Amino acid sequence: MNYHVLTLFPEMIEQGLHTSILGRAMEKGILSLKAVDIRDYTEDKHRKADDYPYGGGAGMVMQAEPVFRACQAVQDSIKGKKARVIYTTPQGRVFDQTLAEELSREEDLIFLCGHYEGIDERVLEEVVTDYVSIGDYVLTGGALPAMVMIDAISRLVPKVLSNEASAEFETFHDNLLEYPQYSRPEVWNGKPVPKVLLSGNHDRIEDWRKEHSILRTRKRRPDLYKIYQDQEKSVSEAK
Ligand code: SAM
Repeated sequence: MNYHVLTLFPEMIEQGLHTSILGRAMEKGILSLKAVDIRDYTEDKHRKADDYPYGGGAGMVMQAEPVFRACQAVQDSIKGKKARVIYTTPQGRVFDQTLAEELSREEDLIFLCGHYEGIDERVLEEVVTDYVSIGDYVLTGGALPAMVMIDAISRLVPKVLSNEASAEFETFHDNLLEYPQYSRPEVWNGKPVPKVLLSGNHDRIEDWRKEHSILRTRKRRPDLYKIYQDQEKSVSEAK
């Protein structure tokens, strides 16, 4: 997977994503990440890439031409089909595990990060394929949303996690939250680890985990639990 991130603050992307699991995957060549400075594509001698909004109002708007040229340069550098261009915006479809799975199957992805009041609408109409939000709140810029999405997508790219099973059976798999996890010591702060987990009986452990996944989802995420119930109902009706 090759990520290309168009931003006014490339150092944020470079510094934030080269550590830990993603950093190791980049060293191994499983992932690559290029932060592209949109200011490199402005013709302004002061490298200005924003201007006042037509019609007035607060803040600045990123200009169309530098964004267009930066995006074209990246698309031209990619061999094969054109890459999807994801504009990070609070006005987009909300990012979730299903979208992360879909995007993890792409070879190249371009993230376009807005800053200030956003980007001139005309260039968005020309280059963007997906408008994606990370939640119903407004951040100062698109760098953090791009990093959040890159992290979630990367865990699903084959060979990024050393133990692939850990991505397959965790939270949101089958619309359930993951069961509680415990590690050593056996008793901490007077609290023992549930006995069944020490039993070595894999069937009983599986049953316990499934039961606690369901209980936890019902309590913490009733919206997700409803989807799980509907899914179970349609499976049993299909039998
Ligand atoms: N004026 C814009 C609006 O009301 O829709 C908000 C602009 S915001 C201050 C600046 C940039 O941060 C946006 O262009 C977008 O790239 C990014 N951003 C802010 N919140 C976001 C969110 N929840 N999800 C994804 N990107 C976000």
